[in-house]
Amino acid sequence: MASSLRKPLIAGNWKMHLTLAESVALAKAVKDGSANAPGEVAVFAPFTALSVVAEVLKGSPVRLGAQDLHWETHGAYTGEVSANQIKDVGCQMTLIAHSERRRLFHETDENVNKKLKAAFAAGLVPVLCVGETLEEREAQRTFKVLQTQLEEGLKGFAPAALAPLVIAYEPVWAIGTGKTATPDQAQEAHLFIRKTCARLYGEAWASGLRILYGGSVTPENVDTLMAQPDVDGALVGGASLKVPGFIRIIQFQLPAGAKR
Ligand code: PEP
Repeated sequence: MASSLRKPLIAGNWKMHLTLAESVALAKAVKDGSANAPGEVAVFAPFTALSVVAEVLKGSPVRLGAQDLHWETHGAYTGEVSANQIKDVGCQMTLIAHSERRRLFHETDENVNKKLKAAFAAGLVPVLCVGETLEEREAQRTFKVLQTQLEEGLKGFAPAALAPLVIAYEPVWAIGTGKTATPDQAQEAHLFIRKTCARLYGEAWASGLRILYGGSVTPENVDTLMAQPDVDGALVGGASLKVPGFIRIIQFQLPAGAKR
């Protein structure tokens, strides 16, 4: 269901791309291109670029996020970065459980749950990524997979603690493949996610929960995706690295008669 409580959010995931100079240039372009955008805007930069991008975005409404975090606050965890460190460098947000982390780096739902707790404890807004593989979709297991990822990832929270959470539905078969989910497929999955969240933590929270779609979002398909009543934004990979395309995505336009 559409809700005016849910401010749209368009977020760019830069993954393992860009030098410092390229990151600064892209952040400046995103900042300038976000003026009068219909929703909020965020960029998830590589750890190495967070400091310089934070400087560029200082004082602007564009939010900055990291792409992952470790659940411990500090300690002997070589190569890891904690929620407090992410906050300290100037981030307001963090991705958790991107499908590349789940698939390539063996992210488990148990660790996802710990990372969510760490993000909330540090005052970061987590974007929890969920989504099925092509094999799972073809075996009619999409809803089962989403249900498990949500039930396990969101286990054991006080409902009030979850207030800032954002969820990104990212079907693995659509990420970086050029195969976007149809608006109907996205809407069906988003509605299922919202209903599952309502069952787990109540209708009041779920009706205000922002659910982003991710998977080959482009300037050409963003408007029809955003017109779906339960699509509250987009998590954009490849297309977020290109200006002016990403600016067009940020400045999405709802078709006449759209339900949201
Ligand atoms: C992503 O990495 O979160 C993503 C959605 O990538 P792409 O837009 O390139 O499919």
